[in-house]
Amino acid sequence: MRIGWQLLSAERMAQASQDGWTIFGVTSFGQLCEERLNLPTAAGWQMRAAMGACECSSEVRKRLEDGRLNVAKAAAVAQVLDYVQQNGGEGALLALATRSTTRETRVEVSRLREEARTKESPVKVTLHLTRRAISDLWRARDLLTDGRGGPRPTESFAVERVLEFFVDRKCPERKAARAAERERRRSERDAGARDGECSESDESAKLAADMPTESAAATLAGGGAYCLPSAPGRDDERSRWIAARDRHEVVGRHGDVCWMEHCDERGVLQFTHDRAFRFGGSNEASNLGRWCLHHHRGFDSGRLKLRQGRDGLIVVDRRGQVVGRARSPPPP
Ligand SMILES: [Zn+2]
Repeated sequence: MRIGWQLLSAERMAQASQDGWTIFGVTSFGQLCEERLNLPTAAGWQMRAAMGACECSSEVRKRLEDGRLNVAKAAAVAQVLDYVQQNGGEGALLALATRSTTRETRVEVSRLREEARTKESPVKVTLHLTRRAISDLWRARDLLTDGRGGPRPTESFAVERVLEFFVDRKCPERKAARAAERERRRSERDAGARDGECSESDESAKLAADMPTESAAATLAGGGAYCLPSAPGRDDERSRWIAARDRHEVVGRHGDVCWMEHCDERGVLQFTHDRAFRFGGSNEASNLGRWCLHHHRGFDSGRLKLRQGRDGLIVVDRRGQVVGRARSPPPP
């Protein structure tokens, strides 16, 4: 428990400080756990979450102290503590967590998370998936994670979105409905053009906005890691839009993962410019990087800087102390 409190207060100190995690000589919570405390990051997060729950609920704290709850259960409960406290279900959840296994507690917590998200009682199903399908499901959650940060979506959310996307693309009935709608709009537009009443660009914008396939694709990528500025329009002098060729080249260097060594973030990733876009930096692969939101912010705020080290790029803090390194090989 002591380590949990230390982690929680370390996180608060890092958040409060202008220098972020570099005050501890590291660049992230994960690195602090792995390199300074010799603790797997997942275990660190678990302890930190459990201590957060203790702060919000004296009952969780009591049960953790007398051993009726373990750290993993308390960390699971922490995810829905607000929701059950508001809905009067805290006692029932803690009773279940006390008498059940950690796995059963997690299942109940994930049910409550869905209930809180959808405002309805979800139906429980059991799926038997191959390892490959599970890794695809995991990847879908990464891709659905809000590109601006925020928690990783639940498995249920990912399944819901992926099904919606697939059915929308493949269902002949929906395809037919889309085609009919397109046809209707086209004839409306033609009639409009004949009457000279409406401008073409307005209508085509509406048409694009109303096409279900497009909207499903947009929902799937909505705010997600792949949410990119739209392609340059005719009038755009300079756009932040990055050509597919350049995006592929950047991702091809290390895979779709943060370029900070030991940072395994794959959900909240952003394309970054070595020479800032606002100072004329180009959108070509040679000027681009792929960093998680956390590390990207570090570079943008000046807390972190990239330097050429003896064998690759190193990451230093404001005082020039080495706090990590970029993945190798470095970009050309
Ligand atoms: Zn990172």
